[in-house]
Amino acid sequence: MAYDVSLLPGDGIGPEVVGEAVRVLERVESASGGEVAFRFETHEIGAGAWRRTGEAISAEAYASCEAADAMLLGAAGLPDARHPDGREAGSDAMFRLRFGLDLYAGIRPVRLYAGCPSPLSTPGAGIDYVIVRENVEGLYAGRHGGSRVEGEVAADTSIITRAGTRRIVEQAFALASTRSGAPADGVSRVTCVDKANVLASYAFFRAVATEVAAGHPDVAFEAVYVDAAALYLVQRPSTFDVLVAENMFGDILSDLGAGTVGGLGVSPSADVGERHGLFQASHGSAPDIAGKGLANPIATILSAAMMLDWLGRRHGDDAAVRAGRWIDDAVATTLEDGSGLTRDLGGSAGTTECGDAVLRALDAAVAAA
Ligand code: ATP
Repeated sequence: MAYDVSLLPGDGIGPEVVGEAVRVLERVESASGGEVAFRFETHEIGAGAWRRTGEAISAEAYASCEAADAMLLGAAGLPDARHPDGREAGSDAMFRLRFGLDLYAGIRPVRLYAGCPSPLSTPGAGIDYVIVRENVEGLYAGRHGGSRVEGEVAADTSIITRAGTRRIVEQAFALASTRSGAPADGVSRVTCVDKANVLASYAFFRAVATEVAAGHPDVAFEAVYVDAAALYLVQRPSTFDVLVAENMFGDILSDLGAGTVGGLGVSPSADVGERHGLFQASHGSAPDIAGKGLANPIATILSAAMMLDWLGRRHGDDAAVRAGRWIDDAVATTLEDGSGLTRDLGGSAGTTECGDAVLRALDAAVAAA
């Protein structure tokens, strides 16, 4: 099938890492003999667009994203491009897409690939879990709200709804049913992460999650407090399969998870809803290394693999699902043999060399298939 993909390179290292992901997708297209094809349309978004036009995403770019089959984003935002109240202006683009297109599920895989450094001395049976983050409710739903009183008091409101909680927990169970369980015991398991012992909204989140779990007796269910989850993700990460969490908790825990498997440079993500999907690395625009050819493109390449998997499952296109696996296998090879290790992973490859290594491994993976 041919897919319309909106490319949103954005700021900082965004264009460099998206460039490598596009090279990989183009190779997939030729390797599949055109069975999986892409029509790319590129749009300027983020801090650069905001500085030039006053808008982080234009109405035209937004409409094109809405019409596309999927979006691949580099990074949006620069630390010195800010609104008067201190909020970063470039990330408005992502929030506009996330809320406007109802991309309510943030899917954050955390997987330790052979060859990647982990600060954990005993990752046990391995690390391979996914954090499913509720993306449009929770504490961040108050981003444009909140109140300040006389320069002395500030307050934000957290929003948890039954419908929002049900659909994110259903996503977690659906994902668990496609995976092979936690590395430690092979058990398919959904872990609800909350703070039900302190706030009523989190107790409600847990109660609704427990109701949803009753409809999925084939998948194990447990609930843990977020502070304990932070401890366990360090102490025994191999016991986790799929975690589901409110917006802010999911945000924080996914960075913690990334830190255990080599960092942000290897951590992909997907923001998906019922109709739209936006795929991007978990990292930001990394202005400190932008334009130097040092950025690790793996997280964006893996995000492109997630895009293919999502497109394939959505459209019943096995070739796209298979192509996503080719990319994943190629990344695993380049990390394991060291040819794709960039500086953040202790290697010396530059952005393009890393992309070249993935392309070589992809060719080998396709030839062997
Ligand atoms: P944001 O808040 O926009 O997510 P951030 O403040 O968390 O951004 P990043 O831009 O992600 O910060 O960068 C954090 C650190 O990680 C920086 O030192 C950056 O150089 C490094 N980093 C981020 N992404 C990569 C990458 N793809 N390759 C190498 N280093 C990276």
